[in-house]
Amino acid sequence: MSIPIHKYDVVIVGAGLAGCAAAREAAHAGLSACVLTKLHPLRSHSGAAQGGINAALSADDSIELHEFDTVKGSDYLGDQDAIRLMCEKAPETIRWAEQMGAVFSRTEDGKIAQRPFGGQSSPRACYAKDRTGLTLLQTIYEQAHRDGVDFKDEYYVADIIYKDGKVNGVVAYDLVDSKPMIFNARAVMFATGGYGRAFKINSNAHANTGDALSIVARHGLPLEDMEFVQFHPTGIAGSGVLISEAARGEGGKLFNSLGERFMEKYAPNKLELASRDVVSRAITQEILEGRGCGENKDHVHIDLTHLGADLIKTKLPELRDLAITFLGQDMIKEPISIAATAHYSMGGIPVNIDGRVRKNKDELVEGFYAAGECACVSVHGANRLGANSVLEALFFGRHVGDNIVRDVKKGIPFKDATDQDALTTTREIEKLKTSNGDERVPALRNELQQGMTDNAGVFRTEKSLLVQRENLKDLKKRFENIRIDDKSKVYNTDLQEAIELGHMIDFSAFIVEGAILRKESRGAHYREEYQKRDDENFLKHTMSYMNANGEFTTEYMDVVLGNHELADRTY
Ligand SMILES: Cc1cc2nc3c(=O)[nH]c(=O)nc-3n(C[C@H](O)[C@H](O)[C@H](O)COP(=O)(O)OP(=O)(O)OC[C@H]3O[C@@H](n4cnc5c(N)ncnc54)[C@H](O)[C@@H]3O)c2cc1C
Repeated sequence: MSIPIHKYDVVIVGAGLAGCAAAREAAHAGLSACVLTKLHPLRSHSGAAQGGINAALSADDSIELHEFDTVKGSDYLGDQDAIRLMCEKAPETIRWAEQMGAVFSRTEDGKIAQRPFGGQSSPRACYAKDRTGLTLLQTIYEQAHRDGVDFKDEYYVADIIYKDGKVNGVVAYDLVDSKPMIFNARAVMFATGGYGRAFKINSNAHANTGDALSIVARHGLPLEDMEFVQFHPTGIAGSGVLISEAARGEGGKLFNSLGERFMEKYAPNKLELASRDVVSRAITQEILEGRGCGENKDHVHIDLTHLGADLIKTKLPELRDLAITFLGQDMIKEPISIAATAHYSMGGIPVNIDGRVRKNKDELVEGFYAAGECACVSVHGANRLGANSVLEALFFGRHVGDNIVRDVKKGIPFKDATDQDALTTTREIEKLKTSNGDERVPALRNELQQGMTDNAGVFRTEKSLLVQRENLKDLKKRFENIRIDDKSKVYNTDLQEAIELGHMIDFSAFIVEGAILRKESRGAHYREEYQKRDDENFLKHTMSYMNANGEFTTEYMDVVLGNHELADRTY
């Protein structure tokens, strides 16, 4: 079978904020740029970001404070050179977004309004009501279009073409008719977002299945700090759908079933506005100790009634709608039911400060870049602060786009791809479509997600993690015996879900392996047997590799330290 081969200077996978920003920069500078996305661009998860985007704009704030809060929030695992760069460029990033056409909410005197978020010394999150991500995404997507970016919506990227230390393109298939094709390029960038769907209770879109991580790992490339998964304190009870931190930023208070404002116990100074890991553990602890609310005692309450109807209607209208739709609770009239939910991936594809993908701790892959949530440039370290990740996606998306332009102009070679490069993908599709095994995707996915929530969630133990390691080995074996019912070519979502499940099983093993080895508690990673941070042994990034038999090896990479010295993290 001959496979169509499309040629570009740069191919970007993912049309969220990171992908659109990079594509806009590349096309604006005259490169031929293509964006491949399995969703319509405006359905990328960036569009769900409600709360805001950080930048030190006000007279009471400073870049140093933003930097300090981020380093402290990261529990000192963030790389301080990358953090410095992001915080320094944050005000300019906001101005750029404004010039592109994004409209931010304003104060009475016409300045960009900013709201407080957890772990921050000053109100720093710029916002567009509670639709910040969508406003930004629409704007940058339009501008990318205007500059001539070629958007290929509903294409599923299944593999990279990686030879002799260089990435020469990707293999994708059209979701409409399952036809495989090759996108051959000088440079490839991954901007594929997060992987929250590996957990049962999560705040992520259905598409956040972390495909890119396994695609990279299956080529023997490393993944970094995968054990750090952020659990957001306020997911709607039962489903995990997000109630943004804006709710706490605007003054929401947390109560247990005894009516106690329990954050007084866990973070006496910052209360509800301590960093996310601290608040999520507090909520989970209250529930585990029997002080949860409702019949099943499986959630706590966030009370916003004191804010008044006007404020809720003007500043939090989407959140109110979500709570009414999913819980039947109107936050104007009553407290709403929430619990911690898997939300954000701090780890990912390791990149240097220019966004170039690492082959190992010392070498880079030629022609391969990543930015946004799928990447680990390590600005978030062990725990991300609210409103820093839209900033990361937008700033690093642009920055990496600019670096690609520079590198392509310097002369990254174009290496022709051939039909043979698509073999792994065509075989995988064929195998899944013809397999007559007796395992089904929804059942295996459910087991995977439940196991990850139960055994690799907010609180982790050696025992629970070893159980999950065995679960994953078992799921990987059973996946070989999977059967899909839809054998057709047209919009075969069974096929897509099966491929995604294979990816989720693989990268989840990285989360568990990293968590087993990290015998300390730092940021979002909490080990009951080792409740303290251990800088002597674990102030380092995990870099894990998986071989063809699913076995792991791990090396460690130094953290880039800087102005901010290690200190205890209290709120
Ligand atoms: C509900 C919610 C609210 C949030 N609120 C905030 C907030 O207020 N402030 C903040 O800073 N952060 C927030 N975040 C986090 C932040 O929104 C994300 O981290 C960020 O937007 C990620 O952007 P991205 O460009 O990396 O990826 P995304 O926007 O997730 O885009 C990923 C893209 O990759 C594509 N893709 C993935 N796999 C494939 C594949 N195999 N083939 C083809 N295409 C593929 C998808 O189609 C999509 O276009 C929130 C997250 C959630 C879930």
